[in-house]
Amino acid sequence: MSLEGSKSSTKTSNFIRHMIDEDLAANKNDGKVHTRFPPEPNGFLHIGHAKSICLNFGVASDYQGQCNLRFDDTNPGKEKQDYIHAIQEDVKWLGFDWQDRLFYASDYFENLYEFAIELIEKGLAYVCDLKAEETREYRGTLKEAGKNSPYRERSVDENLDLFKRMRASEFEDGSRVLRAKIDMASPNMNMRDPTLYRIRHGVVHHQTGEEWCIYPMYDFTHPISDALEGITHSLCTLEFADHRPLYDWVLDNISIACHPQQIEFSRLNLQFTVMSKRKLTELVEEGHVEGWDDPRLPTIAGLRRRGYTAGSIVEFCDRIGITKSDNSVEMGMLESAIRDDLNANAPRRMAVLNPLKVVIENYPEGQVEQLSAANHPQNDDMGSRNVPFSREVYIDRDDFREEANNKFKRLVLGKEVRLRYGYVIRCDQVIKDEQGEIIELRCHYDAQTLGKNPEGRKVKGVIHWVSAEQALEAEVRLYDRLFNHPVPDSSKDGVDYHQRLNPDSLQVLSRCYLEPALANAEPGERFQFEREGYFCLDTGRSEKPVYNRTVTLRDSWAKIEEELSRP
Ligand code: ATP
Ligand code: MG
Repeated sequence: MSLEGSKSSTKTSNFIRHMIDEDLAANKNDGKVHTRFPPEPNGFLHIGHAKSICLNFGVASDYQGQCNLRFDDTNPGKEKQDYIHAIQEDVKWLGFDWQDRLFYASDYFENLYEFAIELIEKGLAYVCDLKAEETREYRGTLKEAGKNSPYRERSVDENLDLFKRMRASEFEDGSRVLRAKIDMASPNMNMRDPTLYRIRHGVVHHQTGEEWCIYPMYDFTHPISDALEGITHSLCTLEFADHRPLYDWVLDNISIACHPQQIEFSRLNLQFTVMSKRKLTELVEEGHVEGWDDPRLPTIAGLRRRGYTAGSIVEFCDRIGITKSDNSVEMGMLESAIRDDLNANAPRRMAVLNPLKVVIENYPEGQVEQLSAANHPQNDDMGSRNVPFSREVYIDRDDFREEANNKFKRLVLGKEVRLRYGYVIRCDQVIKDEQGEIIELRCHYDAQTLGKNPEGRKVKGVIHWVSAEQALEAEVRLYDRLFNHPVPDSSKDGVDYHQRLNPDSLQVLSRCYLEPALANAEPGERFQFEREGYFCLDTGRSEKPVYNRTVTLRDSWAKIEEELSRP
């Protein structure tokens, strides 16, 4: 099964699909389904966003509906055009298409302003001059009702005048805001006269430049943007459940026909990483990682560079499903999705990560033999390639021991092992340097053993190798968890997440040897290095090829945890 480029997503039924089914049965929204994915362009997308993308685009496509991509760009100070490009690239790469429906909340600034005027005219919004700190005091607490602002009873005319002058740049940042007039005693804090507009001078908005010095708040912008686009189901994460009454209040009190339904689902939390954009930005800007596409980050760009396929990410989102309960997903879930994909689809190659030279003394000098090697053990359609064999080869240091018991199924001094796709060799001599470190092995090969065990002798161990003369030198990067705590930003014990960075999250092996068939690999191409794991040719520029380890062959963490939990 090829997962690459797969477009099906979250087909598994869930409570949102049930709600949509009911709406369709009742012919609500004229039987249409229209969703949107609304990122703020203040960072790269991460795997949590992928969950939302798969849900929104997946639902739309399965119900013959549409899904818009909308940049929720009401915070110009933190947003960047670069992020806008990166987000589009990532959504496309995941296999989703917004067609001609790319929007910006800033497209609606004029409409939003007009709706604010309408609320003022209806006596439902007012200009408030309280300082931020005073506003906080007036708001009250969860146990205590808030107090009305002294500016709450301003006349409509005065409010209109002041709001227009706010727009006309007459007032300083923080001196005034526009607030909804709802209920300062509401048990829901979001309904205690929330701010609708604030003044923000001196920033250049990436879309609207310096046209505006007042910016609408998210809770005002979002419902109106949804309604203007004819969205039917506005899917968002659980923390917005308390905002839903405000979402509805805004749409109930302005002249707009469409009233989308907000539905909340639980956000994805992944163990051993952080997902907040503020923290990801800090990791990038403080140099804890190499950039937004660092293969250790849970960003889509990072996962792609690490070697994840789009299909495996979509499959992962399908496997975790959509619910209303908060949970933290094990990294192993994500890893098993890519492992399944690459196990089925990645061609096999040989690469020696910790090279130890082996000289086969009875093999003729200068002779090179081409051995045929299958590209995939179960899939003949993937064909085969030739692997050169000669007098000098590299094997992995870990595959040799001077002494070992029978459990060690690799090369031991005085014993035999099979070179994968090739001959049986026997180690006769170990050569060491002055420090006693092994630098070379002297072996003999048995010419009768190509592809078969010799009569009466069963050689069990098989190891991978690379012919020295034809080998390509490469750098290999092995990644581990970026953090050494399952919930790095847990606030329970007051430890800052920086303290939980794993100092060994990146191990660079600078002199590895690859079989020559890899000379033609394209950046981004993925392989199984036999017995070592899955690797992807890095897309960055460098002198020699760099391979990122996508994932190990087996879930080594599950094994460690299993061993630890054993009595
Ligand atoms: P942050 O709070 O870190 O800034 P965000 O949720 O505000 O992140 P947005 O760009 O606003 O980031 O998110 C766009 C969409 O993706 C929203 O609808 C949001 O609910 C959804 N989303 C963000 N993070 C997750 C997550 N971890 N799991 C599922 N959906 C998510
Ligand atoms: Mg947000």
